[in-house]
Amino acid sequence: MSTKTATETPTLRFPTVCPRCSREALSELPLAVIAAALTNDDKLLLRAGCCHDVTWYASEAEREQLREYWLSLTMDD
Ligand SMILES: [Zn+2]
Repeated sequence: MSTKTATETPTLRFPTVCPRCSREALSELPLAVIAAALTNDDKLLLRAGCCHDVTWYASEAEREQLREYWLSLTMDD
């Protein structure tokens, strides 16, 4: 049986599209980072989930998509 500890950081997995190769891949960020960026209107740094080591700031569309993922997660609680 697996045990979950309270120190485990909850993360959110979401699809990102790499600006270099346009390939969609899953990224993962701590929920706290996403929540803070969305609620404080801070920039949110995304990282490509493909072979490229690319980072960029989330666009309005990407932020909106993340907001929906985040809301659907928090509503499960
Ligand atoms: Zn790529």
